[in-house]
Amino acid sequence: MRALVTGAAGFIGSHLCAHLLAAGDTVVGVDSFTDVYDPALKERNLRTLTPRPGFTFHRADLLTADLGPLLDGADTVYHLAGQPGVRPSWGAEFPVYTARNVLATQALLETVRTRPVGKFVYASSSSVYGDAPTPTPETACPRPVSPYGITKLAGEHLCELYRTAYGLPTVSLRLFTVYGPRQRPDMAFARLLDAARGGAPFPLYGDGEQTRDFTYVLDVVTAMRDAARSRFTGVANLGGGSPVSMKQAVAAVEYLVGPVEVVSRPAGPGDARHTGADITLARRAFGFHPRTALHDGITAMAGESP
Ligand code: NAD
Repeated sequence: MRALVTGAAGFIGSHLCAHLLAAGDTVVGVDSFTDVYDPALKERNLRTLTPRPGFTFHRADLLTADLGPLLDGADTVYHLAGQPGVRPSWGAEFPVYTARNVLATQALLETVRTRPVGKFVYASSSSVYGDAPTPTPETACPRPVSPYGITKLAGEHLCELYRTAYGLPTVSLRLFTVYGPRQRPDMAFARLLDAARGGAPFPLYGDGEQTRDFTYVLDVVTAMRDAARSRFTGVANLGGGSPVSMKQAVAAVEYLVGPVEVVSRPAGPGDARHTGADITLARRAFGFHPRTALHDGITAMAGESP
């Protein structure tokens, strides 16, 4: 298979490219190196890919690039480029979220419409659910509690619209808090490991009893390719299957790595209280089975081997 991966230099995108290449696919990666976190970390992510045969990379912004040539010969598009992060999505940053999560998705879909592909896989988010009861099935009414969630839901609706209006075979996968080696530095386990190694104290928001359905990155990218190769179109959850509280996450890192200095912070707007995926649909549709237990995933992360 020949794939276009947007957001290829990012956390999940770089793992996806590696997984596709290992499976024998040819991969064209595109990324604009946004400055949400240190772009040097994206250079590091890319260095895991650039020596590999079958991989080519284009530094380009989906909002301004001529997307047609990037799609030449592609039979699958994995659209992971976007502006992540819940808390910074309030206020003045919202136009950036809108541009990178909504307008960029529309630009890509519009180009794909004129050059049909076998599958268009979109990295959606559990943030679309807001405070829905857990475990949450895809039939739950999405009610985001953050501006970020609104933009991810809008991107997902665009995929659904191009699917129903133009027959574009889109799959939107609602990813639940992804972790693993090379995780974004703003995310919980990256911060916890940094704190356990003597870095900045870990900010624990609220009472620490909020739960997250942490999902290991290799389980996520495996499912993305499996979904692309299946007949499935539409929306499906990808969750790790065993939500834990943030207090338990801290305890797991302390047990496996070492003591973590924690600083309490008030719970901010935008954070869902609990997330938990019902993964029945993904299991039935493309055999999704999260294999990595939290302790194994943290151990791999601590050793920084994927
Ligand atoms: P990331 O920031 O590491 O990767 C996103 C990449 O997209 C970055 O390298 C960035 O430079 C690139 N990008 C952004 N806008 C672009 C544009 N207009 N043109 C080209 N490149 C652009 O984030 P991540 O954690 O790897 O997330 C990847 C995707 O998965 C995002 O769409 C995110 O919303 C979604 N997602 C992530 C999680 C998670 O837990 N990490 C959960 C749910 C959904």
